[in-house]
Amino acid sequence: APTQAPEWLARLNEPQREAVLTTEGPVLMLAGAGTGKTAALTHRLAHLIRERLAWPSEILCVTFTNKAAREMRHRVGDLIGDAVEGMPWLGTFHSICAKMLRRHAELVGLQSNYTIIDTDDQLRLLKTMIREANLDEKRWPPRQLAGLIDSWKNRGLLPGDLTAVDNEAYANGKGQQMYAAYQERLKALNACDFGDLLLHMLTILKTDREVLQQYQRRFKYVMVDEYQDTNAVQYLWLRLLAQERKNICVVGDDDQSIYSWRGAEVANILRFEKDFPGAKVVRLEQNYRSTPQILAAASGLIAGNSQRLGKTLWTELPAGQKLRVLGVWDAPEEARRVGEEIERLEREGAPLEQVAILVRAQYQTREFEDRFIQIGLNYRIIGGFRFYERAEIRDALAYLRVIAQPADDLAFERIYNQPKRGLGAKALENMYRHARAQGLPLAAAALELADSDELPARARNTIAALMGDFLRWREASDSLSPAELMRLVLEESGYDAMLKADRSAESAGRADNLVELARAMEDYETLGDFLEHVSLVMDNDAASDEEKVTIMTMHAAKGLEFDNVFLPGWEEGVFPSQRSLDEGGLASLEEERRLAYVAITRARRRCTILHAANRRIYGQWTSSIPSRFIEELPEEHVEAETTLSGGKSLWQANWSEQEDPFAHVASTRPERSGTRGPGWQRALATGYETKPARVKENTRSAASFAAKPRSDIAIGARVFHEKFGYGEVVAQEGNKLEISFEKSGIKKVIDSFVTAAD
Ligand code: ATP
Ligand code: MG
Repeated sequence: APTQAPEWLARLNEPQREAVLTTEGPVLMLAGAGTGKTAALTHRLAHLIRERLAWPSEILCVTFTNKAAREMRHRVGDLIGDAVEGMPWLGTFHSICAKMLRRHAELVGLQSNYTIIDTDDQLRLLKTMIREANLDEKRWPPRQLAGLIDSWKNRGLLPGDLTAVDNEAYANGKGQQMYAAYQERLKALNACDFGDLLLHMLTILKTDREVLQQYQRRFKYVMVDEYQDTNAVQYLWLRLLAQERKNICVVGDDDQSIYSWRGAEVANILRFEKDFPGAKVVRLEQNYRSTPQILAAASGLIAGNSQRLGKTLWTELPAGQKLRVLGVWDAPEEARRVGEEIERLEREGAPLEQVAILVRAQYQTREFEDRFIQIGLNYRIIGGFRFYERAEIRDALAYLRVIAQPADDLAFERIYNQPKRGLGAKALENMYRHARAQGLPLAAAALELADSDELPARARNTIAALMGDFLRWREASDSLSPAELMRLVLEESGYDAMLKADRSAESAGRADNLVELARAMEDYETLGDFLEHVSLVMDNDAASDEEKVTIMTMHAAKGLEFDNVFLPGWEEGVFPSQRSLDEGGLASLEEERRLAYVAITRARRRCTILHAANRRIYGQWTSSIPSRFIEELPEEHVEAETTLSGGKSLWQANWSEQEDPFAHVASTRPERSGTRGPGWQRALATGYETKPARVKENTRSAASFAAKPRSDIAIGARVFHEKFGYGEVVAQEGNKLEISFEKSGIKKVIDSFVTAAD
């Protein structure tokens, strides 16, 4: 009985202990944020092992992230005073299923050494299949199909299970056919995608009695954290495994269901008592994490949702400060304020590890990263790349680097075929070979190859067009601001079109990141200045043991806690997100509100919400409206402060005292002097001709690149060429040769591709 609890459980409160000690039969722990659900689950795991109710290998315990699994493993070890050997079935749904599937792969037509393909591979495969099916891939993009297939898998549907509606969702009724063909193709490759890990295991448990019984017998206890975010396939898989013994304990909070966009169904937690009749329901109401103010503010906010069970939360923690809502002028000021606040906390002795900035969208991290680097504040980005390391940002920067510094081979290599231009590995190999032989930059080598027969005509034309673009952009860089130049390049290179063709949520995020990049560039006069700034930012990577501030999305912060939490960008269209507003449904707005609840309840001591009065998008200022969630916070627990005057709406605030936000747009750019970034100087110093006008004239002339002609080959020499065979040199211009080949007639080739035959 709970009253005779061992001492090591004394720290837990009564209902927590009850959840720990009720080991037999179904248990549902349904409770609000910070009430010790995860703590109770961890103790329960330790208890089972300690009391030898089961071996570690006989317990199935599902966490939401790998990190949470590691932490739990650690804590259990601490609790029972011993490192726990082997808890093979403690992990995320995916990691557990991957392990199981290795053992039974043959039951779904795979070998045990199957590969798990990533999104890139998946898209490439689907693209081929879409072409083979003679579908218009612009109209029916691979990403759309990938998204549909994922959602079907999340729902536990095999191709044969699709409804007519599902089937109609792609290419006028070809959904099922494409899905089936894709599954067949994966099988032939001995591969599966992420969604298959669960779906295959579900299929196996459903169709193979013996395997099912083996696992039902093995797992004496099943436990799941964050149960409110399980999707259908996970739910079905769990139900099968737990059906026999019914020793299943799930914990969750319906108010924290924030992954419906990934197929999570909050209904799973609500129907647990139906699935497992007689389930013991444990409610935890005491919050151990947050001050009364934070708790009351979060509770007041979430009360605005209609679709919830509703629950009471209380805390014995001493009163703290009210939630702070800070109104600032614009995003840079937002980052500056947060930076100042953190520095102040640091001076007061607060550990940086206990400070987090939680954003709604990935792109929001950029302003903070820039600022923190400037003031030398260590930070880490969790669950995503640092802003300037994201693929689309690196792509855009690579274009700009080639413009600023044509000898930047790494940059050129990154984008010569991005977006896809049909230039393959062979073209790159040829460019490299020539570049090395001649000591030329890759771009210059490409330009020369474009004027020779070394490459097939199609590749030559493509390269010539690309190099022509670069020359034009280089010229344009004289008259355009860096941000304007970037807009031009992204449009003319086809990069924008590539993102647009791809209708996934992910690609929308990428487009947002590029808008954010343009915003960052507005602050720089020349391209060189901006690129220098970026290289400094990128250099700040030094991994160290020093304490760091954490920057991450609200989604990724689920289950975590920090003393000090900053929540920037609480404006309509940022949070709640524009997408949720466009969708317009109550459900999507309520999910945003749950996200706000998750975000606020991460805070232990202080929570600061920020909103800016103005945001700049492509050089255009727009006024923003504070998030409706701010208004919904109970007034008595909030302390509002603006850096603008009066109690008026921020946008109406005293214009005369503020810098005119349109000034940037309206004013003509100051004449820029001829000075450029270091790239140009280096290029000029190495004698590489870069003056736009001249280069343009010389597009077709290799001589302008100062390549040295070979001294060992002259007119009349007999030479050998890999592709064209033997021939005689009939003309020589710089390092370009015209050769009369014995088999293929007169060709223009480049001297680094021939050897003297005599
Ligand atoms: P979330 O819903 O955010 O996942 P949770 O319900 O899982 O929250 P925990 O993370 O387990 O809550 O606990 C919140 C904090 O309260 C932790 O710091 C934990 O150590 C502490 N805590 C949990 N139970 C107790 C207790 N009985 N006494 C004191 N502190 C506790
Ligand atoms: Mg938790």
